[in-house]
Amino acid sequence: MQIFDLTGKVALVTGGNGGIGLGIAAGLAEAGATVVINGRNREKNAAALATLRETGGTASALEADLRDPAACRNLVDRVVAAQGRIDILVNNSGINFRKPPQDFTLDDWHAVIDTNLTAPFLLCQAVYPHFQEQGGGKIINIGSIAAFMGSPVGVAYAPSKGGITQMSKALAVAWAPENIQVNTIQPGWIDTPLSQGARAEIPGLEDAVIARTPAGRWGTPGDFAGAAVFLASSAADFVNGAALVIDGAYSVKA
Ligand code: NDP
Repeated sequence: MQIFDLTGKVALVTGGNGGIGLGIAAGLAEAGATVVINGRNREKNAAALATLRETGGTASALEADLRDPAACRNLVDRVVAAQGRIDILVNNSGINFRKPPQDFTLDDWHAVIDTNLTAPFLLCQAVYPHFQEQGGGKIINIGSIAAFMGSPVGVAYAPSKGGITQMSKALAVAWAPENIQVNTIQPGWIDTPLSQGARAEIPGLEDAVIARTPAGRWGTPGDFAGAAVFLASSAADFVNGAALVIDGAYSVKA
């Protein structure tokens, strides 16, 4: 369908070299976008590019550690230098340290907040002048159901995800007059390297998630492709400041 077509659009997907980010990058590429993925790990970047290109996608990768504010600003300049424009920003990179709150160090706190909240903020600021000049653009920020649910091992993760959700609403309101849409996707429990760590550390988590999820399974990175294409496309031009939960009904189950 024409309204979902992303041909001619350039998308930056942070953390696009694996997990949910790769699922999103694959969806955007399949819809016609030129996709630039980012991650710190060169081997993961190369493997993800091979996957994206296997299915005919146009993709490239840029290494950057987004904990460095200068690297965030520079990343957008590098995308524009290489591709001539940027139309879609997906802030997907994220980390968590599963520790009890009392054991969380200040360094742990800063690592999570820098990666999950400050970097997305700086990247949103960095794309703004380009979107303004081009007459609009799309930002998709990846939150979590941890934005509105409690977790005993999410003392920094939860506020980082609550923060990115509320930041997205603030940006949506501020930049709507300039035809910029800023929405959040809130994943539930998804089978990725991040959650594999959680399953290794939390006995019974694998089965507990299935038992509580009405859909009866863990989510997969592919579950995010369609939602990302929708939010990145002209089909969602009047969708702004929304937070779309993708969790197989986990969080609404009584
Ligand atoms: P993964 O661990 O699979 O992927 C995380 C990605 O972030 C990797 O591509 C990693 O690349 C990148 N990344 C991490 N730190 C940095 C950094 N400093 N600079 C640049 N890139 C970085 O996680 P998921 O796919 O599971 O998570 C993706 C998003 O979804 C995250 O924001 C996460 O919080 C969120 N989410 C995930 C859920 C789940 O159940 N999996 C549930 C709810 C939300 P590299 O290692 O190469 O740097």
